[in-house]
Amino acid sequence: MLDQIEAKIRNGERIDEEEALYLLRHPDLNRIGRLANDVRESMWGRRCTYNINRHIHPTNVCVFRCTFCSFYRRPGQDGGYLVSPEEAVERAKALSDLGITELHMVGGCHPTAKTDYYCSLYRAIKEELPHIHIKSLTAVEVAWLARVSKQSFEEVLVRLKEAGLDSLPGGGAEIFAQRVRDLTCGGKCDAEEWLEVHRVAHRIGIPTNSTMLYGHIETDEEIVDHLSQLRKLQDETGGFMTFIPLAYHPENNVMEIEEGPSGQRSLQVFAVSRLFLDNIPHLKAYWVMLGLEIAQMALWYGADDLDGTVVDEHIYHDAGAITPDVLTVSDLRKLIAEAERDPIERDTLYRPIVRDEATGQILEIGKETIAS
Ligand code: SF4
Repeated sequence: MLDQIEAKIRNGERIDEEEALYLLRHPDLNRIGRLANDVRESMWGRRCTYNINRHIHPTNVCVFRCTFCSFYRRPGQDGGYLVSPEEAVERAKALSDLGITELHMVGGCHPTAKTDYYCSLYRAIKEELPHIHIKSLTAVEVAWLARVSKQSFEEVLVRLKEAGLDSLPGGGAEIFAQRVRDLTCGGKCDAEEWLEVHRVAHRIGIPTNSTMLYGHIETDEEIVDHLSQLRKLQDETGGFMTFIPLAYHPENNVMEIEEGPSGQRSLQVFAVSRLFLDNIPHLKAYWVMLGLEIAQMALWYGADDLDGTVVDEHIYHDAGAITPDVLTVSDLRKLIAEAERDPIERDTLYRPIVRDEATGQILEIGKETIAS
């Protein structure tokens, strides 16, 4: 069957769920990885993109209790915070001389911070730093804002877009299967709502990313189902820029799983994702969760992007990620070059960026988006 699947892929045909499941379970990781790499190289050649970004978590207070989450504080609990627009601007400005092009802003579902709060956050940032791309709010947070602000998904997203929101990250998808959601993150938005938030975002011109949290209690079938639901929505809207498989981290949470996925499992998930998601242009190896070594290897198993400098990330570091909490641009470029790939800085929309080597000033942002 592997020969038949390989022939199909090499002919440019789409593989189905049953075939994806077969690949996910097949012991010949190297052959599947080589196939995924051939597909990746036919799309992007040797290049591997990265961006210069920082994370700001607007709040760590959350009404939900996801069992895999090490980040949240309950409303009223010590250590909870809600960042003011002024603070967010100060943090972003403090790092603007590092050349950041993107702010990645996600956090908890706060009981009283409504759409207006996020609008004032984005407006304040755009006023001071109009060139910064704001990638913010998972679909879970958008669905929560709709609930707490008594607005539709579209009303929330239109208002946020007007205030300066440029794109949505892909978090909160976890695993779509309701069995897993009931056991790990019951109460927060379900698969249908997650997909609907992204559908609406794509319709009104907000590009988004997609994710999958793997390596905990999910089955192989549930992984394939998750990929399949993403592929269907992408066929409909074309609004996903990238897919990011997120490796589960076991520390500081209440989930009774002591280990995250092995390197072998991660590489297999990457390879199958590249082969199955033939309509999502990019596959990101998020080094914070994968670890630097597996992230490098993933660049030969389908991935073409390494995310960014990621200053001040807490969600996964609180969960035990032992990766550094920031990589410099030269760290990132070295990692990529060591993996025999060509590093290219990009913006959030995957457009290549050319800088003056001496000053770091942006000379040019490619007119042609790398995202197909
Ligand atoms: S994963 Fe998100 S929604 Fe779940 S508890 Fe943590 S912050 Fe809240």
